[in-house]
Amino acid sequence: MRALKWAGLGLAALSAVCVVRAATVSPPTFAPGPAPALPRFDEAAVAQALSHAVAVPTVSRRTGGEAAAFEQLHATLLADVPRVQQTLSRERIGEHALLLRWAGRDASAPPILLTAHLDVVPVEPDTLGEWTHPPFSGAIADGFVWGRGAIDDKTAVVTILAAIEALLQAGHVPACDVWLALGDDEEVGGRGGAMAIAATLRDRGVRPRFVLDEGGAVVDGVLPGVTRPVALVGIAEKGAASLELTVVAEGGHSSMPPRGGAIARLAAAVVRLDESPMPASLRGPAAAMIDRLTPELGFAARLALANRWLLGPAVTRVLSSHPASNAIVRTTTAPTIFAAGSADNVLAAHARAVVNFRILPGETVQDVIDHAVHVIDDDAVTVRCLDHCWDPSPVSPDAGEGWDDIAAAIAWTWPDALVSPSLVVGATDARHYAGISDRVYRFLPIRLDDVDRKRLHGTDERIAVADVGRAVAFYAALLTATTR
Ligand SMILES: [Zn+2]
Repeated sequence: MRALKWAGLGLAALSAVCVVRAATVSPPTFAPGPAPALPRFDEAAVAQALSHAVAVPTVSRRTGGEAAAFEQLHATLLADVPRVQQTLSRERIGEHALLLRWAGRDASAPPILLTAHLDVVPVEPDTLGEWTHPPFSGAIADGFVWGRGAIDDKTAVVTILAAIEALLQAGHVPACDVWLALGDDEEVGGRGGAMAIAATLRDRGVRPRFVLDEGGAVVDGVLPGVTRPVALVGIAEKGAASLELTVVAEGGHSSMPPRGGAIARLAAAVVRLDESPMPASLRGPAAAMIDRLTPELGFAARLALANRWLLGPAVTRVLSSHPASNAIVRTTTAPTIFAAGSADNVLAAHARAVVNFRILPGETVQDVIDHAVHVIDDDAVTVRCLDHCWDPSPVSPDAGEGWDDIAAAIAWTWPDALVSPSLVVGATDARHYAGISDRVYRFLPIRLDDVDRKRLHGTDERIAVADVGRAVAFYAALLTATTR
């Protein structure tokens, strides 16, 4: 009886602590300072420049794109920014990547590096008829620029160039060097472009004080209950591993089959992997995002999220139940290829599957291989990493130089938006720059709603002309504030 009473008291105290924690979580205080004066630029002209760039079909070459298109894009881009063409030094890296340098007043000051990519994903031939405007027309209609690459990532390429052009016209000379790295193969891994550019810069001893690439954006409805738009700035990205599973067995006629043929063994292995994912845990960049957004939520959600020391497993379980939030709390498992057999009455002598994992920071490619071998637990199944396996990126700080500069430029451009660190679940060129800078950030300065987010890599990719202007304003503000 006495023990029960004490337990009751303990529980009451515990709930009191939880309630107090939930009631007192407060947003971090960050004061961006007054916005700098922006150089003048012509939004309609920049939208035209984007239209010109979209009209050049620079499909990644490993997926069938042509070299001539990249040459044409270089010329097209530069024709729209004559001062950039005259002032910045420019070199080609690898096949068609470009590295531009805007020389600063002090060549010894740590530079900044902005990066974007010139290539785009192909258009699925059977979706061609569904486009409102042909994907490589660069049509400007109804207040939008339409076409493949209008968001990913020619908006970044064109608006960065436009911001530098406007600053040049205003007579701005940056305090430090500004590098602009334009990769030509981001959508197929970035080895020829970004990786080669990073190696070039490393060899020259260039260590940017921060790097900014695409990744996050200003999005609505990040979490149920968060009513303000949130500017998600990626401080890390997941790694990836495509594991190939193969089973070799004796073939033969299917009339007297042995138990556990190649297909059955392989199917069992894939099902085991699918049913036993790597464990979920809310930590690192995802935890930083949840911490940032918690003060915005209703009391019940705050109660849970501010008391993860006690309610962590329940919170993780809820996050794991939706694909989007599951992706930020665990290494995900996605069987993507399954191939075996050739005739309905012949035993398959060979079966092959590929399972694609996206790896959470804190885990490695080797951890994924070990996990797979352990879970499959069948010596007949050979597990091997395909070519494209890489560890997660390091995690950049969500405070201090670079971060504060980007957060301030966001606050000046979208005054109603929250700024939050985030984990990028896809891959970007940014990961290749981890070797030359400790501060690598991923943010494309555009506002994306649910509808437009689906158009990325899909049908009817487009961007509002007004959003093109805001992207120029963001880069101009960032460059002014960091190089004055
Ligand atoms: Zn991209």
